[in-house]
Parts: sequence; structure tokens; C-alpha cells
Amino acid sequence: MSRPLFELIDKRSQIGVFRKTLPERIFNDSTGNAATWTFPNQSVFSADCISCYVPRCISWPQADISIPKFSDMSVRAYNHICPTEAISWDSNHEIPQIDATKCISCGVCASGCPVGAIFIDEDRDAIATVAASPNSSFETLPVSDSNTTLQAQQISELPRMQLDSPLADDRHVVEFYNSSKLRALGEASQNLLVQSVLRALHVKTVLTRHGDVYSRNDGAYACGESMLGPLEIEFGSDSLGALRTVLDDIAVFHRRYDVPVAELDGLIVFKSLPRNRQGYWQVIKDVQDVLNLRIHTVTLGALLLTLWNKGHISPETLRALTPSVDDPSIRLQIESAIGRPVNLRMQELGILEPGK
Ligand code: SF4
Ligand code: SF4
Repeated sequence: MSRPLFELIDKRSQIGVFRKTLPERIFNDSTGNAATWTFPNQSVFSADCISCYVPRCISWPQADISIPKFSDMSVRAYNHICPTEAISWDSNHEIPQIDATKCISCGVCASGCPVGAIFIDEDRDAIATVAASPNSSFETLPVSDSNTTLQAQQISELPRMQLDSPLADDRHVVEFYNSSKLRALGEASQNLLVQSVLRALHVKTVLTRHGDVYSRNDGAYACGESMLGPLEIEFGSDSLGALRTVLDDIAVFHRRYDVPVAELDGLIVFKSLPRNRQGYWQVIKDVQDVLNLRIHTVTLGALLLTLWNKGHISPETLRALTPSVDDPSIRLQIESAIGRPVNLRMQELGILEPGK
């Protein structure tokens, strides 16, 4: 039987809380060092794990990931934040542990940590983390109702990590795409990776359970109050196959979940945007013009760039991700989500523009 990733809820003995004041600034300079906390009196400390009672580096709260409209969909039960189960926390440790041999350096766990205790280290091939010794700006207290309430309140009042401090610089996405660990992921883990990144960007995402005979698609997503639909993930070159599957599933979702077709938006996540000669872009345009269906296209790399820069995927962002044969680029949309130009050359790895 596999080891639970998180088995501490009833066994935890202590948690961390800030002593007097909260940091007014949490800053990660993306140079491979730990984030820093700056307090109102200008004292600066290196970020430490505060042993969250509800650790957002380990698992998603159910309310953040379930999609009520598709509640009877046969989906994979997977609420772990880490797509490779590299981060875990057992009763032998007071802080989470990261297995560098499994970590693919996606940064999803780091994006969920409210105090910057997890960061992408300078070797870019692992997430370094969580100092083992408490510093003097916070203290450890025994687990009790009042102390866990205090910790939750402090976390809710913390400043967001600075927007000028990305978790990783833009070039990290090139190393990420070229890494042997990413290439070694099987299809199921690739899909879990996309699911985790979308969830971290506040796009509720579920993956279909293998063997569901009613649906060929990879899953479903919901963004905001009103945007939802089928999700397809394609890391290979079968872009037209992914498109056909989404078209099938718009019909299935309409019939099975009683959602008007006009309210369904398909979403396809590629590793690399389809090349022009594959015909995808012309067919996407035809689907929009002739059938009046909306299918949105994005890449894993574009989502990661948004996550690492603490951007946000809103329904408006997703709706704008409609590249087609006239302009098969998603650069402007992603730069808008991030709030600045992206430092990637045109067509590099097909992340923002199709490769040649
Ligand atoms: S960086 Fe990604 S792969 Fe590594 S421990 Fe965190 S979530 Fe898991
Ligand atoms: S690593 Fe961050 S999110 Fe995880 S328990 Fe520690 S402080 Fe909380």
C-alpha cells in the first residue's frame, strides 16, 4: 500500500505562528535563494516553514477543486498538489519533505506556500525548501483550537508575495521543457501536472477516470462563475485528434449535464502549439466561424510562466486564448496575464508561438 502523502492532521504536535507582527513584505528574488520576510521595523529574516495546520503545499481543499456542475462525472480522486508525489509529510517530521529525485521543479507547491518557504533552487533541478530551524520572528505552539485559528488568521492577513519577484525567471521554462524528468513523465503524470498547474491558477480542474465509457476526453474545467467545459491535454502532435475529442465532448456535456452549447467552452492544453502545417489553426477557425463554438488553446509553458509570475487566469484571460490561422500566437494574452513582456524568443519550443 502506498504511503499517504499527508498523515499528520491528528498527530501534529506543534505549529508556527508569528510572534508579534506579520511580515509586511515577502520577497523572492528568483535567484535561487530562499524568500525573505521584511517586518515593519525593517528587520529581515529568511523565510521558514511555519508548519501550516492546513498545508497548501500538500493538498487542495475539496471546495477549491470540485466542479458542482460535473459532480457525477467519473473523475480521478487526486487532491495532491504535487503531480509526482515528490512532496510529502509524515509523522516523523515537523515540516514537509521534498524528494529531489521525484521533483520536476514545476513550482506548484511553492506557489501555494503563503510564506515563501519553498523556492526553486539555483540548480533548477529541484525545489529546495523549508529551513529546519525556527528563526526568532515566529514561535512554535502546541496544536490547539485557538492556536490553529490564530495561525489561519495570520496566514489570511499575510501580504501576497511581491509581484516583481517571480518564482523562476522566464528562461527556466526552457530548462523545464528540456529536462529529462519532464520527458520521462508518462501520460497520466503529464495530465496530473496540467491539472495541478491549472488548479494553482484558480481554474478548477478534474481529470476523467480511466475507463469511463461515456467520455473520451481528459477532463473538465471551470473558471469563475460561468465558464466551463471539456478539457483536453495533448503533449504529442495529434492536435486534430485533440480538437475532435473536444468537439465530441461539447455534445456529450450538453446532453449529459444539460449545459447549453452556447455556455460550453472547450479548452486544449498542448505542450507545444501545433505547427502551421498540421492544419489545426485552419480547423479551429472553421469551428469558430461555421459552428460558432469556442475552443481555447494554451500551452503548459504559458501556464507555468503565468504561475511563476503570480499571474492569474481569469475567465477573460481564457476567453482571449483563441489563436487561429490569422494569428496563432498566445504571447499577448500571456503577457497581459503576467503584466509584462516575456523573455522568450519567438517560436521557442512552441510555448507562445507555433514552432517552424
Ligand atoms: S515543485 Fe512540483 S514536482 Fe516539485 S515538489 Fe513541488 S509540486 Fe512536486
Ligand atoms: S512549506 Fe509553506 S505551505 Fe507547506 S507547511 Fe510549510 S509554510 Fe505551510
